[in-house]
Amino acid sequence: MDFLIDTHYHLTEPPCYQNAGQILENLSACGIRTVIVPTFSRDSILRLKSLKKTYPDLPAAWGIHPLFIPGSPPLLINLIETHNTVAIGEIGLDGRAGPKADESQEAVFRDQMKIAAENNLPVLIHCVNRHDRIAAILRDFPAAKGVIHRVSCSRRQAEQYLDLGFNLGFGPDICESRFRKMRDLAQWVPVESILFESDAPFFSSYPMEPDRPADLGPVLKTMANLRKTDPEELESIVMQNTITLFDRLELTA
Ligand SMILES: [Zn+2]
Repeated sequence: MDFLIDTHYHLTEPPCYQNAGQILENLSACGIRTVIVPTFSRDSILRLKSLKKTYPDLPAAWGIHPLFIPGSPPLLINLIETHNTVAIGEIGLDGRAGPKADESQEAVFRDQMKIAAENNLPVLIHCVNRHDRIAAILRDFPAAKGVIHRVSCSRRQAEQYLDLGFNLGFGPDICESRFRKMRDLAQWVPVESILFESDAPFFSSYPMEPDRPADLGPVLKTMANLRKTDPEELESIVMQNTITLFDRLELTA
């Protein structure tokens, strides 16, 4: 097995944060080449800043999540200079905050899309119940690239993202039959658009040991089964997709 890259791993959150050193030490033994660490709130940004003092090579994504605004997007601009900053995220829209929040969420999302565009960085997008709005906003940023993380939407909505050249992020959810939409997407999306992620520690019923990275093996296996394809071949394509999208990612040997 080659090594998979976990494109969305919240090392800033408990219990991962307290065990960060051990988790990073255990990566290769667990078949994980590296993890991309997204931020979502002011606190998570502070914690990632502090992790990067000890682990300057840790691949970072800086962003304010729609449920954590008002954050401070201008604050992101200084952070982008940090070594191995590979993306802006996670950013997006979340309908669970209700229609009253739409305007402020969209403003903060656009601000961060602008920062990403100006710095030629990909974006990690979080979306709940606002896929058509996200797609509409992305059309205003024609050079934008990125991933719709933990994607759960209709085929029509997924096609909008694919037409915009976006990747789709799949995680442990696809291993559970109740996540029908995600499993359906996993079967038909073009292989060049697939990325793997855990969103650890924010998943429900996936085995997780506090001192180890999330196991993406079952995600790979399930995806290969759903697509009736060879896991090794799939793995190397997904790895290539990841390196292509995150072109600032500096992998240490
Ligand atoms: Zn996340």
